[in-house]
Parts: sequence; C-alpha cells; structure tokens
Amino acid sequence: MRILITGGAGFLGSHLCDRLLNEGHEVLCLDNYFTGRKPNLAHLVGNPNFEVLRHDVIDPFKAEVDQIYNLACPASPVHYQHNAIKTIKTSIMGAMNCLGLAKRTNARVFQASTSEVYGDPSVHPQLESYWGHVNPIGIRSCYDEGKRCAETLFMDYHRQHKVDIRIARIFNTYGPRMCEDDGRVVSNFIVQALRGEDLTVYGEGQQTRSFCYCEDLIDGFVCLMGHDSLTTPVNIGNPVEFTILELAEKVIAETGSKSKIIHKELPQDDPQQRKPDITMAKCELGWEPKVSLEEGLKPTIAYFQQVISESCAAS
Ligand code: NAD
Ligand code: UDP
Repeated sequence: MRILITGGAGFLGSHLCDRLLNEGHEVLCLDNYFTGRKPNLAHLVGNPNFEVLRHDVIDPFKAEVDQIYNLACPASPVHYQHNAIKTIKTSIMGAMNCLGLAKRTNARVFQASTSEVYGDPSVHPQLESYWGHVNPIGIRSCYDEGKRCAETLFMDYHRQHKVDIRIARIFNTYGPRMCEDDGRVVSNFIVQALRGEDLTVYGEGQQTRSFCYCEDLIDGFVCLMGHDSLTTPVNIGNPVEFTILELAEKVIAETGSKSKIIHKELPQDDPQQRKPDITMAKCELGWEPKVSLEEGLKPTIAYFQQVISESCAAS
C-alpha cells in the first residue's frame, strides 16, 4: 500500500515510518518540522519506498494514497502551549484536510487522538465510553479540545460521507527519538538523571500516569488500522499505573544517577490520574502491551546517553 503519515518526522511518526516500510509499504511522510527532526528519518534517506514532504497540515494537500495516519500535532505540553492557536488549528484543520483527502481517495484514515480527551478524569481507569472532564478554557484546552473536535470531525465524516476511520486514544508513550528538551516527564527525568541534575517532580508527585513503550504502541496502531470495521475510538496504552514520584525513583535506579528529587509547582489543570482500560483493544484487536517500564527505560536511557554524548562532543 501507499501510506501517508502526517507528523512522520516526530517521535511516534518516525517509528511508524520504520514499521510500515519494514512491512513492504510505500511511505509518504509529511511534516512541517515544528517538533519533528530530520535525524529521526536520516536512516531512511535513499530508501526507494520512502518520500518526505515539508508541508503544514493546516494547508490542504493532495496525494494518491491507500491509507493515512494523521499524527501531525505537537504532543508535549511545553510545545503545544508555545503557540496555542496554532495547536488547535493543527488539530482541527489537519483533521479536516486528512478527512477530505480520505474522502476523495477512499483511503482508510487514522487519527492519533489522546487520553487528554478524558481531561482530569473522574472515572478511573478510563473507558472509551467515558465522556471526559476537560476544562475548555484552560492552558491545556488548545490540545485537549483540538483533539476532541478532531474526533468529532472523524465521526461526522464517517456518518455523513462513509469515510473509513480509525481513532486511537493514545496514553503516555515514551522511547528513543523523543526530543531531549520537549518537557515530557520521561525524557525530562532521564536527561536530568544522566546530566546529574535534580529531577523536577511537579507537585507532590502523587499524580499517576501509565507509560507505554513506543514499539508496543506502534503495534497497536497497526492492529487497529488492520481491523476491518472498528470505527469508534480505542484506548491504546499500557494499563500499569505509576505515580510520578515512582517514575523518578525508577529512572534514578536505572541510570545509576546520584541526582536528587526536587519538587516544583504543579502546572494548571494537570490531570491527577490516568490509566487506560484496554479491554476493547484486547478483545477487538487481540492487542496488549508487552514491554514493562523497566524494560522500556533501558533502550530509552541508552538513546539519551548517545544524544548527550554527541552534543558534548560537538560543543
Ligand atoms: P512529536 O511532537 O514528536 O510529533 C509530532 C509531529 O507532528 C512532529 O514531527 C511535528 O513536526 C509535526 N507537526 C506538528 N504540527 C504540524 C503541522 N501543523 N503540520 C505538519 N506537521 C506538524 O509528538 P509524538 O509524541 O510523536 O506525537 C504524535 C501524535 O501522537 C500527536 O498527534 C500526539 O498528539 C499524539 N499523542 C502522542 C502521545 C505520546 O505520549 N507520545 C500521547 C497522546 C497522543
Ligand atoms: N512532570 C513532572 N516533572 C517534569 C515533567 C512532567 O513532574 O519534569 C509531571 C507532569 O506534571 C504530569 C506528568 O509528569 O503530571 C506527565 O507529564 P507529561 O508532560 O509527560 O505528560 P501529560 O501531562 O500530558 O500526561
């Protein structure tokens, strides 16, 4: 198949490019390089089945494709809050442009949605049927409401125009190729630990997240896209829940760092708890994550060790 990946130069997008090329597909990657980076794709240059286009999903695009994965959108709070209006435009107009293209080409189209559609959830763990608890005017809303509106657009294009959609609600995912400075918790803690700096736990660190290794997540994407009829949103994530303090302690143990833990102010609207109910993914897709946090941290730490030593050598 010929497959378009928007946001293909980013953390998850570049792993998806690898996976689909390995399966023998042709991949067209579209990215504006806001948070994506050419080094994530450097190993694919020269592959005859691979093309990259610098383009912004806010502007319409044309291509003849069989499938579309829409991943274009900054994912870390630091990056998506940097230009909030651009973030919501990216989610909504990017979704409309992908859906329009899917309608014209009859392509199946995948939306990278998020656990953020549940906001600061009052139901735990989060099931797909939960409508969420989102502040529509807070600093996270450009991302949360943008992604919620994108889901609405996907469902309406499906109902109104019979566009063949798939929606994954992704829970916190980590692994090699995250940006070292994107502010997300796993990359922050690893980079701080490797540099011997204090690990910055926001608030008391009792808030929880469930961390999925990128390889597991990409498997989930491909399983969902391969399903012949599942058009409603599906949670894709690892259901093992940790407090942020526990994560900090694990990173210190795994890196063997002498760093200390310090506490900083909790950001506004920071969700208190998050854990996916993955019954639907298990039953409908036969998918569940296989990589534990301890296992996934090892290659992630090795990746950041290399990034840090390369940047030291260059300076
Ligand atoms: P990322 O920031 O590494 O990747 C996003 C990519 O989209 C980057 O390559 C960026 O340059 C590109 N992009 C951003 N705005 C664009 C625009 N207007 N036009 C074209 N390209 C644009 O983040 P990621 O973690 O790889 O996330 C990928 C997708 O998965 C995002 O849609 C994100 O919302 C979703 N998601 C990720 C997580 C996670 O934990 N990683 C969790 C939930 C949802
Ligand atoms: N967090 C933290 N220290 C950091 C970065 C993040 O304690 O240096 C916390 C943050 O407040 C949140 C959790 O870790 O409670 C996950 O944050 P992240 O930005 O990775 O993702 P999200 O909040 O979108 O799940």
